[in-house]
Amino acid sequence: MFARGYFPGRSGQIFVIPVEGEVITEREPLYRFMHGSPWDYDSHIPVLLHGRPFIRQGERPDPVAQQDIAPTLGAILGAGIVPTYTGRVLDQAIAPDAGRPRVIVVMVLDAMRADYFETYGDVMPTLTRMRREGAWFSEARTNTLPTITGVAHATIGTGTDPRFHGITVNNLFNRTTGRHQPAYDSLDPRELMALTLADVWNLTTDGRAVIIGQGGALRATAGLVGHGACLVNGRKVIAASYSTRDAGWETNPACYTMSTALESFNGSRVWKEAGGTWMGHDIASPSKFRASSLYQRFEAEALLAVMAQEPIGTDEITDLVMVNMKGPDYTAHAHGPASAELKQTLAELDRQMARILDLLDRKAGPGRSVVAVTADHGMPGEPPPGHRHHPQDIVRLIHERFDPVDHKVVHYYDDASNSQMYIDTARLNARGFSLRDLAAFLERQEYYTAVFTEDEVRAAQARLTSIK
Ligand SMILES: [Zn+2]
Repeated sequence: MFARGYFPGRSGQIFVIPVEGEVITEREPLYRFMHGSPWDYDSHIPVLLHGRPFIRQGERPDPVAQQDIAPTLGAILGAGIVPTYTGRVLDQAIAPDAGRPRVIVVMVLDAMRADYFETYGDVMPTLTRMRREGAWFSEARTNTLPTITGVAHATIGTGTDPRFHGITVNNLFNRTTGRHQPAYDSLDPRELMALTLADVWNLTTDGRAVIIGQGGALRATAGLVGHGACLVNGRKVIAASYSTRDAGWETNPACYTMSTALESFNGSRVWKEAGGTWMGHDIASPSKFRASSLYQRFEAEALLAVMAQEPIGTDEITDLVMVNMKGPDYTAHAHGPASAELKQTLAELDRQMARILDLLDRKAGPGRSVVAVTADHGMPGEPPPGHRHHPQDIVRLIHERFDPVDHKVVHYYDDASNSQMYIDTARLNARGFSLRDLAAFLERQEYYTAVFTEDEVRAAQARLTSIK
């Protein structure tokens, strides 16, 4: 899984896998729960295709991956095969001779574990109905590491592995600046090295297809919608992300346009109306607001406003709507997968899903659209007492052993969800140690089950065949 996710210069030097059930996360209360591991709670995701007459109904137990979604939707769209795809077309879900839908919507429900469809089925009537009516892949899993937002959205959007699309972490260490930076620094999609399905469709239709990308963070939106006009012959597409600077929406105007429907949306109005709290929690800031069902409603209403205003479904050129819904992720990061808070957020998400389906029928006509529902990753449950670990403590431990005076061997491990550490290898070697020494030391800690060096991950990558 790390071998599929390795990209030189962006990946770290040490790759860690926690023992199943151990949670490695920040001290910040909004992130008491943290995904990123290969275990089922982080990797088992829903893949659901919905929309008669284009999709064949049925539960399918064959294993599928996030990389299969773009090729499959591309086949329904008639977009052809993109040479970088490592995923395959899920033929068994496509009805033959059904023609082309007017709209295809991809809904990536952030951190939506597959088992939520059982656990919370009672508050999700619409998603449950979609599952019954559509093609449901019960054994869908992420097959790359880390299992995190930026990586997975790019994998879904491009239909290929991170080793080809280049988005390997949410936050990486830049050796030339000496600082860490987000995967899409300054909202710039240039580090996305492969074409997304939306890119290909934008180029194929020369911008005549309406393409909308929207999400709770740019690291989600960009991987789905792609490069827009920041690609030779690409046209600007409509894209925006929620901004934690001002609780409004933002875009990168070089590549995308923002729908004017978003101008009136600001989260602060929502939390002020609620008196600044939700279920007893303070939500009165752009960041805290996200861990609530009110935020889930806010981001869905923003999407509905854009979809209502923009001319989707009006002609025979299939339009694409690529969506990230952040609600389940932020709520579960703070309160966990078993919480009453998450249940509320999922109930809200389901209500909004019904409105989205209704709007699609109104815009494109009944039976004229396809909706794909999936997730980027899952979320671990509450660990036993004493089994929550913090990267700062782990870094301190490394420095006590390998660099006790200067504490400089570890460049960056603040973002534990990356599941990798950026190491000053030259300094480590100068002190008489190798990356394998460091890996062996970490493997002796009770919370890691396996630790790999960059060389070991590269060797594993060389053993992968070019496809799959
Ligand atoms: Zn996510």
